[in-house]
This record gives sequence, structure tokens and C-alpha cells, in this order.
Amino acid sequence: SASSRDVATLLHPQTNFRAHEKQGAVVIARGEGVRVFDEDGKDYIEGMAGLWCASLGFSEKRLADAATRQLNTLPYYHIYNHKSHDPGIELAERLLALMPVPMSKVFFANSGSEANDTVIRLVWYYNNALGRPKKKKFVSRQRAFHGSTLMAGSLTGLPALHREFDLPLGGVVHTDCPHHYRGALPGESEEDFATRLAENLEKLIIAEGGAETCAAFIAEPVMGAGGVVVPPRTYFEKIQKVVKKYDMLMVADEVICGFGRTGNMFGSETFGIQPDILVVAKGLSSAYLPISGIAISDPVYQAIADNSAKVGMFGHGFTYSAHPVAAAVAVETLRIYEERDILTHIRAVAPVLQDGLRRFADHPLVGEVRGVGLVGAIELVRDKATKEAFRPDERIGPRVAKAAETHGLIIRAMGDSIGFSPPLIITADEIDQMLARFRKGLDEVW
Ligand code: PLP
Repeated sequence: SASSRDVATLLHPQTNFRAHEKQGAVVIARGEGVRVFDEDGKDYIEGMAGLWCASLGFSEKRLADAATRQLNTLPYYHIYNHKSHDPGIELAERLLALMPVPMSKVFFANSGSEANDTVIRLVWYYNNALGRPKKKKFVSRQRAFHGSTLMAGSLTGLPALHREFDLPLGGVVHTDCPHHYRGALPGESEEDFATRLAENLEKLIIAEGGAETCAAFIAEPVMGAGGVVVPPRTYFEKIQKVVKKYDMLMVADEVICGFGRTGNMFGSETFGIQPDILVVAKGLSSAYLPISGIAISDPVYQAIADNSAKVGMFGHGFTYSAHPVAAAVAVETLRIYEERDILTHIRAVAPVLQDGLRRFADHPLVGEVRGVGLVGAIELVRDKATKEAFRPDERIGPRVAKAAETHGLIIRAMGDSIGFSPPLIITADEIDQMLARFRKGLDEVW
């Protein structure tokens, strides 16, 4: 079977290999709208849009056609030195036009991890250009996810991605995760919690050497893989003041939040973030081909442009930076978002998801329900009153996810939190079906 051939040959990302040998692979054969079908024809609602990315679902013909057209015209060219091509140019134009704050230029890479590694190189180059060779440290957050390459993996704040890999590498420090439910003191309001976290950030920056050594702060507007953590009220406003005070750059990792997920085009708009650098991937091409982008402000561009003239070049880039086929698919994706007014659709169905998730709040296993726009999570607990968690070996999250899967719903367990991030095209009716399937799975485990 395909499953046994898989087990014999494939190493899976972020997977327990011994468990995989026992349970085998769920082999997905095709997709249609918000659903995928396994090799036996069983249908699943894709409650996570794959990995928070297939925003237009799994059968958007226009994206396939855009790829085919480009493959038949110019399947590959690079943009090194002074070469260029139309899909790359048009994508940069369209992306800059969507930015929540004025941005000057875009650099393209192939994944979120590569994009965040690029951010680090850009910021280091920028501070060298400005004659500030000591200003290099990045401040990230516990439970952040910024990718799996060595530096993006270092920005990540998840122990499972660090342990056994000798990460984080030097130059990255982590401040608090803004999860009110888990992190607030008894009786502490969201505002007071946000104030305390901003104070802690300032203390960390000072302890790390202050403005002289701290270069940038990076954050997902809503933390994704860390468990869908929606920031408490006033959080980014307060954090941003501290970041500015120490003359650090604000980097918004919009890999999940970008292109409508939180109900605005960017999470930065939803939470009042004014980034100097903004990172996108995933929804940029609705995941049909790998591509990511890094937009930079004009002051950052001017400094690195001067330096590139002085030292001869900006010595960074990838064979597939702005790959024309991926870029053509991304251009078509952005056209579709615009033509179909995806934001209006998201705003119309988001309450169906958010209210639907909140109806689980009185379930005996549910500690917290959180979310915004078309992303949410349900955190499972042993004891609602004390918030006591299950033991890791009880594997409550994976068990609930597995049970939901038998009822035809693919969702993602992140520790004890179950994430929902369906394709943005999902209808109200499909959201109801998704949550009905989830309830069956949850009740089975309970
Ligand atoms: N940043 C965020 C916020 C992500 O969610 C992810 C992936 O899930 C990444 C970066 C890394 O992206 P990739 O897996 O394409 O390297």
C-alpha cells in the first residue's frame, strides 16, 4: 500500500517516527474546495487549510492555469544582478500596494523560514551599513514559531524545536508569550498583563545591552503554531513603544496572519502594529507553489542600498528568489482575493466560526476558547476551575485530533490546544459541518 511504502522511505517533518511506523500514513489523494480525500475516497474538511496556507482551498483552477501559462512562457529565470521578469515585478507591485504601512521594496524567497533568515541577514547588514556593528540581537518570544532553519529555528520559541538541536544559536533571546489565560497573575486584567510584559521586555533589552546591542523585535500578530495566541488588549501598542525607545526594528511575521486570516489584510492592521519589515508566505500563493516575501521600509532600503554600492553588492539571495511560476501563481492569488473581495467574505463568516468555537466553552474538557477572524483554538484541560493541564503522556490534543479525523475533520493539535484555520473560502454551512465533526471527535475522547 501507499502507506507501507511511505513508512519504508519517508521522513516526516515534526513527527514521532516510531508512532508513525505503527499507525502508518493517511495518504491524501485529491482536493476539492475546503475538502481533501484520502486514497480510499474518504472526505475530510481541511480545518487547517493544510498548514494554515491553502487559503483558496484545494481546487482553484485559476491558479493551476496561471502556473501552466507561465510554465509554457518562461518556466524559469532568476533576478540576480540586473535581470528581471514580469511575474516578479507584478507581484512586488501588488504586494507593496497591499502593505498596511508604506514599504519600499520586496525581496522574495521560497518559504517562511528562508524569509526569516533573510530578515536576520538584512538587519545585520543594515546595522553594519549604519556603522553599528554591535547592534545585532533579535528579541523573539516564547512559543513563537518563525521556522525551522538554523536562525529561523532560533527565533522560534518552542522547546521541541530547540531541544536536541542545540538551538537557539547566539544572538536571539526570548521574552514572554502574551497568553493571558496561562500567563496572567490572578485577577490581572489584559491591559495590566500587557503592561507587565512590556516592562519585562524592557528589562530584557537592558540586560542584553540596550540600544547598543539589540537590533530587532520579531512577532507574529497572532501566534500560530504556539497555539493560536491572540494578544491581550493594548499589547502591541505597549511593546512597540519599548521597541522604538531602543531604536530597534519591528518585524511582523505575517506568514499565517497575512492576506485576511485575522479579518484584515494583515494582522498588523488588526492589532495596530507598525512594522519596519513585514514577512509573508503561505497565503501569498494560497500554498499552490512555495514562495515568501520580505517587505522593507524606505529607511531600511536606503541604508542597505548605500552599503551595497559601497561593498559591491547585497550578498544574499536564492536561485529561486521570485521564481516566475510561483510568482505568477501568487499574482493570480492576489487578483482572486481582490476580485472576490475575500475580506468581505471573511468578515461575514468569521462570527460563525468564533461563536461556534465559543459554544464549546462549557464543555467539561475545554479550558479556553480563543480566536479572531478565521483562526481559533480550543485549549483542553483536566480541570476547568484550576486550569490544570493534562500530562504530556496523556496526549489529549493528538487523541482529540485523531478522533475528529475519523469523523472527517483534519485539525491540528498543538500540545493541548486544538487549532482551527480553515481555507478562507469556507462557507457558513461548511463551518457548521466542521464544528459538528469536531464535537463528535471531542465527545468520543471525553
Ligand atoms: N513563520 C510563521 C508564523 C509560520 O507559521 C511558519 C510556518 O508555519 C513559518 C514562519 C515558517 O514557514 P515555512 O514552513 O514555509 O518555512
